[in-house]
Amino acid sequence: MSPQRLSHIPPSFLITLPQGLLELDIADRIYVDPDTTTRFSTDFGRLTRAPPSAVLYPSSPDDIAALVRFSYFSPHPFTVAARGCGHSVRGQALAPGGVVVDMPSLGRGRDDRINVSRGDGSSFWYVDAGGEQLWIDVLHETLKHGLAPRSWTDYLHLTVGGTLSNAGVSGQAFRHGPQISNVYELEVVTGKGEIMRCSHNENPALFYGVLGGLGQLGIITRARIAVEPAPERVRWARLIYTDFVSFTRDQELLISISEEGFDYVEGSLLMMDHSLIGNWRSSFFSDRDWEKVKLLASQFGAVYCLEGAVYYELATASSVDQKLHSFLKLLSFVPGFAFANDVSYMAFLDRVHDGEMKLRSMGLWDVPHPWLNIFVPKSRIRDFEIGVFKGILKPNNSRGPVLIYPLKKNKWDEKMSAVIPDEEIFYSIGLLRSAIMGDWEHLDDKNDEILRFCHREGIQYKQYLPHYTAQTDWMKHFGLKWNVFVELKRRYDPKLLLSPGQRIFTSSLMDHVWEQEIPFLKLY
Ligand code: FAD
Repeated sequence: MSPQRLSHIPPSFLITLPQGLLELDIADRIYVDPDTTTRFSTDFGRLTRAPPSAVLYPSSPDDIAALVRFSYFSPHPFTVAARGCGHSVRGQALAPGGVVVDMPSLGRGRDDRINVSRGDGSSFWYVDAGGEQLWIDVLHETLKHGLAPRSWTDYLHLTVGGTLSNAGVSGQAFRHGPQISNVYELEVVTGKGEIMRCSHNENPALFYGVLGGLGQLGIITRARIAVEPAPERVRWARLIYTDFVSFTRDQELLISISEEGFDYVEGSLLMMDHSLIGNWRSSFFSDRDWEKVKLLASQFGAVYCLEGAVYYELATASSVDQKLHSFLKLLSFVPGFAFANDVSYMAFLDRVHDGEMKLRSMGLWDVPHPWLNIFVPKSRIRDFEIGVFKGILKPNNSRGPVLIYPLKKNKWDEKMSAVIPDEEIFYSIGLLRSAIMGDWEHLDDKNDEILRFCHREGIQYKQYLPHYTAQTDWMKHFGLKWNVFVELKRRYDPKLLLSPGQRIFTSSLMDHVWEQEIPFLKLY
């Protein structure tokens, strides 16, 4: 069935509107046929399904602004959700009964949506990237100039607007802060349909509010991002620990060393699950080394893997081993369990993509993903280990990577909407599990158990990529930032049009639609 456009089949919510308000001719870019709306009714998580009434394929930010204005001035407003790649896991990019904006359309067939420039009269460089652009494409384009953004996510096939609406964290964040700390300027379509530029100096409330603002205050159509000279090569190390205290102590030591230290620090729990699904995020170990690690893991039930990387130029290759060894001497991994690889900067940053390809080829990518990401304060990470890694998760095999790495609060800007624990160092914990056996409910029950455990033990965690269904939980999540966030919502999206899938600000318009939400029951 070929896509049906709005001009052919007007959906009921639009025919009630006064003709004159459709200021731009965008009707031919809005599709309402069931094939299209069904494709936009779920996300990577595959846990939530709620179809929109229509999908806009914009050709410019003006198209998006026209759509939002149309809704804003209508007596029957409808919700609008920007959708990057739909890599959310809890329906955050859905617009039940409203309109989904397919952001990638902004860049389709165009090569002018990523531009590398030098700041006026200075030597600093930046890249202007469309909100719809994938980080992998930003990397390709900046590398042509020998430059690259400095803060990343582990996986680069995410959109600029999607990660900046959350935070964007990876192993570089301890040094450079999350991606939201590396933005100079944004262009945004607000919930009133205005196109606004904002930065630290220009409309700063909007700028800080949108960064980490979960799509609530505006749709990012362009971001000006900091770049630095791109290194050529990466010496990439993995060190195995059987003792959690030594593992986290060494991680914290590495993030305390400034400029001359590691450029990237992460870590993970390796459980008895040695299948691809447990370890798809990069191929690192040789078969021989992997056998050795597996043997150790089966002796201890689980081991911890500290992952670090040192960037370097070919011209300084001779000193990189020396540098790495001087760090390794400070660390307490299991003797004989240090492994290193040497890869290009591009291969290092794009390491997760290979795993995606493998999972896709095995039909294991498009499965439900009941992922849980939380930030746990350093003071309680040992309690978390005992209760969760050695307790709640113990009897299971992991069914996906379990990430554990420290971040520094002083690299986050308090004025931004993103929320973190109130402690100088906190841990990013990612339980990235795939329900390959059709048992997502069981895995999700484990997530609930983990959160209940944290509540019971008084662990002041914050959810990352948060998901709540009650406004009281959102109020707790935002804490002291809640009142400011509400005020910004009132200012920039007073009719509660944007990103309804986050379920922060609901109205009677949305409530009845959410009630119809149907989870995926059985996929297999
Ligand atoms: P979507 O899921 O499409 O949208 C996310 C939210 O942002 C929605 O509410 C949407 O309405 C809103 N939104 C989308 N585009 C815009 C825009 N232009 N302007 C305003 N709002 C917008 N995150 C990390 O921080 N670090 C990681 O290492 C990391 N690794 C990941 C690996 C995988 C395999 C996956 C699937 C996700 C990973 N994520 C990671 C999570 C990722 O940051 C989020 O899924 C994020 O939402 C980006 O995905 P997206 O671009 O597809 O956005």
